[in-house]
Amino acid sequence: MRVNTLKRAAVAFALALPGAAIAAVIAAPAAHADGCYTWNRTLNQGRSGDDVRQLQIRVAGWAGNRDIVELDGRYGPKTAAAVKRFQQAYGLRADGIAGPQTYAKLYQLQDSDCTPAHFTYSELDDGCGRGGYSGGPLSEAQTRQNALETMWKLEALRRSLGDKPLNVTSGFRSRACNNQVGGASDSQHLYGNAADVTSRTSSLCEVARGARNNGFSGIYGPGYPDHDDHVHVDSRRENNSDRSSNTTSWSAPDCGIGAGND
Ligand SMILES: [Zn+2]
Repeated sequence: MRVNTLKRAAVAFALALPGAAIAAVIAAPAAHADGCYTWNRTLNQGRSGDDVRQLQIRVAGWAGNRDIVELDGRYGPKTAAAVKRFQQAYGLRADGIAGPQTYAKLYQLQDSDCTPAHFTYSELDDGCGRGGYSGGPLSEAQTRQNALETMWKLEALRRSLGDKPLNVTSGFRSRACNNQVGGASDSQHLYGNAADVTSRTSSLCEVARGARNNGFSGIYGPGYPDHDDHVHVDSRRENNSDRSSNTTSWSAPDCGIGAGND
C-alpha cells in the first residue's frame, strides 16, 4: 500500500517536470568519486588539459598498428582513434568521444593506485628481487610513472589477446640488477619502460604480433637472440632520457616480424 503510494507520487513528480528537466535528470551521470582519478567533463577532439593526459595514459595501448599516442594533453585525431578502439574493445558505443560510458569502464579498470586491473607495481618492480623503483637513471617517481604507462599498454595487449593472463617476468631493473642479468647498458628496463612477457595461453608470436597494435615501439621476440622464451616490449619512442633515437625497433624473425619494418 505504502509502496504503491510512493510509486504514484514518483510518477506524478516526473510528470510535473518539464521535458528538459526530465532529460537532465536522466542524462546526469551519477557522481563517481573514484579512488584513482575522476573526470569531470566530456572530452573530444580539440580539448586539452591534464584530464586529456590522464585519458591518454589509459588509452595509449589502443594506438593502432605501429603508432603511439603522445601523452601531450591534447585531444587530437590519434587520441580520438585510440578512444574509439578502446570503446570497440569493451563493447561501448564507438564514437571517439570520452563521456560517462567510457569513464565508467575506465573506473572499473583502474585500481585505487591508478594501475590497470590486471597489473601491479609489485609485478613490474626491480627484477632482481630487491623490489622498488630506485637505483635506475631516473627518479623513483618518474620510473614508477613509466611503469604505470607500460602497465596500461599491457592491459590493452591482454584485452586484445582475449583477456588471457600475461605474466611479466622482468619489468624495471635498477642498474645493479641490469648488470647482474647482463642487460644492455642503456636497456629500456632501466627506465621502467619495458616488460618481458610470457603467456600460458597465447603463443609468444601471438603476443609479439599483437603488441605491434598496442603502442609498443620496441618489440623483441622469438628468433631474436636470447628472446626465444619471452617477448620484450617497450616504449623507446617516447623515452627522451635514453641514448637511443626515438624510433620503432622490432625483431621477432620466427614470428615474421622483421627489423622494424613490419
Ligand atoms: Zn626485456
